Amino acid sequence: MTEPPEPPALVIDNLHKQFGSLEVLKGVSLTAQKGDVISMIGSSGSGKSTFLRCINLLEIPNQGTISVNGETLAMTQQRDGSLKPSSPKQVERIRSRLSMVFQSFNLWSHLTVLENIIEAPIHVLRIPRKEAIERAEYLLKKVGIYERKHYYPINMSGGQQQRAAIARALAMNPDVMLFDEPTSALDPELVGDVLKVMTDLATEGRTMIVVTHEMGFAREVSSKVLFLHQGVIEEQGTPQAVFYAPTSERCRQFLASRI
Ligand code: ADP
Ligand code: MG
Repeated sequence: MTEPPEPPALVIDNLHKQFGSLEVLKGVSLTAQKGDVISMIGSSGSGKSTFLRCINLLEIPNQGTISVNGETLAMTQQRDGSLKPSSPKQVERIRSRLSMVFQSFNLWSHLTVLENIIEAPIHVLRIPRKEAIERAEYLLKKVGIYERKHYYPINMSGGQQQRAAIARALAMNPDVMLFDEPTSALDPELVGDVLKVMTDLATEGRTMIVVTHEMGFAREVSSKVLFLHQGVIEEQGTPQAVFYAPTSERCRQFLASRI
């Protein structure tokens, strides 16, 4: 007997998001198979962060569907036409399968690095403390900051904080990792360490959606690149196609301004 085909890690279909009268996302769709690394590029204000925040349900889209690993988020239409997730339990479950890494790290400042990493595994996944610590230590070694495990975020460089944030995201063993400009807040000399960790994750087969201004990463590491312009995907394809033969003039201009 043949195995049933595996569902894609993430399917977003026709996502719309408005803030008041401002239409930020105008029907964005994306499919990530397991192991895909999808880079999203585009000018500031094009809707990249909003898109990631909708995937992670930090924002509720006005229209569209979200499926993670074959499970589709159930949404109910309200009287005013807006959508609302039908089940808070399902929102929690889907959120726990997606881990987000933010530009500004978002570590808890009152917790040490180790405590930051074990917090959600213990309280959300209900993993025993000892096991959570062992896994956190393994992840800290992986991202190269094991010796800082008892440091508070404020006593670490931005690059170390971001690697701690990546370890924290990995500790949830997510199906999909979402990165929102993870290196944009870093001093230039610290960018490489974080990109190295992300490249290792990509090589290991992690499914990743990465909003980035690092064109080298997008070109070398991604399986697919999306160019977002004013809430619409203007161009998408393999890195070769998008970087070397873009069909959209806007995409061409954007890339020219970045090189
Ligand atoms: P990007 O990440 O590509 O720079 P964003 O998704 O942050 O773009 O923002 C896209 C547009 O949506 C911008 O015009 C921004 O001002 C607007 N926007 C984002 N979040 C909100 C919000 N919570 N309320 C109102 N407008 C917002
Ligand atoms: Mg942004």
